[in-house]
Amino acid sequence: MPLEELLRETHQKWIQSLEEQKQLQARLERLEKDFHTIFDSVPAMIWYRDRQGTILRANRCAAESVGLSVEELVGKNYYELFPDGAQKALEKDMQVIVSGQPLYKQLRKYVTADNRVRWVLADRIPYWDENGEVAGVIVFAQDITEQKAAEDELHLANRRIEQANRQLRAAAERARILAEEAAAANRAKSEFLAHMSHELRTPMNAILGFAEILQEENLSEEQRQYVQTIQRSASNLLTLINEILDFSKIEAGRLHIEMVPCSCADVVREVAELMEHTARSKGLEFQVECSPEVPGVVYTDPMRLRQCLLNLVGNAVKFTEKGRVLVRVYPETAAGQKRIRFDVQDTGIGIEPEKQALIFESFTQADSSICRKYGGTGLGLAITRRLMGLLGGHIELASQPGKGSTFSLILPCFVEPMQNTAADPSVPAPVPQEDDRHIGCIGRILLLDSDPPNPIHASLLLRRAGLDVCVVQTLREALAELKQNPCNLVLIALQKVQEARKAAAKLRNFDEQLPIVVITSDASRKTAEQFKIAGSNAVLVEPVSRSQLYETLRSFLSVQAAASVSGETSSPESESPEDLYEVLPSLMEQVRECYARSDYETLAEHTGRLVELGRRFHRPVLAEKAARLQKSLAGGSIQPDELQKQVEELSDLCLQITLGR
Ligand code: ADP
Repeated sequence: MPLEELLRETHQKWIQSLEEQKQLQARLERLEKDFHTIFDSVPAMIWYRDRQGTILRANRCAAESVGLSVEELVGKNYYELFPDGAQKALEKDMQVIVSGQPLYKQLRKYVTADNRVRWVLADRIPYWDENGEVAGVIVFAQDITEQKAAEDELHLANRRIEQANRQLRAAAERARILAEEAAAANRAKSEFLAHMSHELRTPMNAILGFAEILQEENLSEEQRQYVQTIQRSASNLLTLINEILDFSKIEAGRLHIEMVPCSCADVVREVAELMEHTARSKGLEFQVECSPEVPGVVYTDPMRLRQCLLNLVGNAVKFTEKGRVLVRVYPETAAGQKRIRFDVQDTGIGIEPEKQALIFESFTQADSSICRKYGGTGLGLAITRRLMGLLGGHIELASQPGKGSTFSLILPCFVEPMQNTAADPSVPAPVPQEDDRHIGCIGRILLLDSDPPNPIHASLLLRRAGLDVCVVQTLREALAELKQNPCNLVLIALQKVQEARKAAAKLRNFDEQLPIVVITSDASRKTAEQFKIAGSNAVLVEPVSRSQLYETLRSFLSVQAAASVSGETSSPESESPEDLYEVLPSLMEQVRECYARSDYETLAEHTGRLVELGRRFHRPVLAEKAARLQKSLAGGSIQPDELQKQVEELSDLCLQITLGR
């Protein structure tokens, strides 16, 4: 090839190579630029350092994290620049350099140039040179300060929750212990009350009884006044004792409510008979209006209804100076439910609106002058309100100061076909009122009483009634007497309940037909039941009035006569209430369980059984409430709140029934 051509070709190649070199250079520059862009925009710190710790590279994030520029970092010794924690960093770096293995997720804390504490999570990767030697480490570190703060906070919150839980558990345990203590205290209170009832009623019995006897003696006018004052004060004291006992019993859930068929008109008549005289002697008009539409027989507890009405009528008379007191009884329907309303209307002092709710609280009167002027304890309405609740009803009040008040008792109207309720021997059959000083029977009574003055009082009453009385003080004497001289009735008035029960059982054993009447100061239903089981025919609670005693004796003496003619003995045994008390708690437990696991089908079955029990044992409130729940379940569209309310109401009622046994 001629030289000239060779030169031209070489020149061309040189030019071409130059061109390629330029392109390569440009690509290299572009790559380097890309690398720096990426290197600096990665949101993590990246450090290259050699085996001695000299910083070869650091990205912008790393520089910013320590508060310096990249230029200020590169070429400096990392360990000298950041002496805080340098030793640890060096150890870790050396571990990677020596092993050639990376180290991931190392948590590290450091302090920035402007003194801020930061936390990082670092990965260390060996940095290999072209000879395959580890020349240093590349560190990728992510700032997790915020994340760590959140985690720490979470941790702290968890610790606080744990602590709160511990405190809660301790509080629950304390509450349990307190509840147990309260229950024990309540039991002690009830026992104390039962005891006090005994202690207080016994002397009251003697005071009232002797005052009654004294009244019939030849007294001067002055002496008569004294005796009347004794009678009035004793009867006030007795009312107070009874109110306090009733209130305590209700509070302890131990008041027994017995729903039996009865006539509202009769209850109102009895109350009117008791109050009319007092009202008229104050110059007040006294009226009773009983609508003929009130059902002849309803199921309620007549004794408690009478107590509520008596309280309202008593207040109406007490707080009215002129005008009238009107008692109205009529049926009404509200929310599809039939009810009976008893309005007690007066034209008395009335009650300020802001006091109207307060007077239903215990020991509360409308103002402080009331007690001075009218007397009273402020317990009557509190008892009435609670009693009405137990009867399934409520009390309402409308009043205008200076004009008068209307208190209303609203009672659910439970009407059921008359059933053959077995006569409760502790409640003697009512006998038409005669002159109560003449019992109208003859007979021999064996009076067993060890504690004066009762034998004197009771024997005096019995003798005045023309009965032949033999007083003995021990069971042994009683048995000896019965063996020698048969008696028509035994009256046990022993103070100790245990002793009296034992005596009743032994005497019943001795003679199956002999009527046994017990006088006791323990008014509890349980004690009455125990006497019944022991074999007594009737239980009278102290203080026993003469008419009450005579009525009972008459009833038994005549029963005895009738039995001897017809050859029959006592009425057939009915189902015992004990059967109800046995089944009720477990059945209610099942109801609650079914409700809790939303098993409405079985719930309806159990509710049906409650309806049946209510009907069988003459508990119409139970039957009615259970039937309502059953109907709601059958309808299928009951709201959850309403369902819960009905189950709770039923549960409370069952508890009340079993507690009141
Ligand atoms: P007490 O009559 O023993 O004070 P109650 O609980 O029966 O207790 O009544 C509470 C209070 O309610 C009474 O003290 C009185 O202030 C007020 N009160 C009750 N009935 C009437 C009424 N018919 N007229 C005016 N105030 C009444």
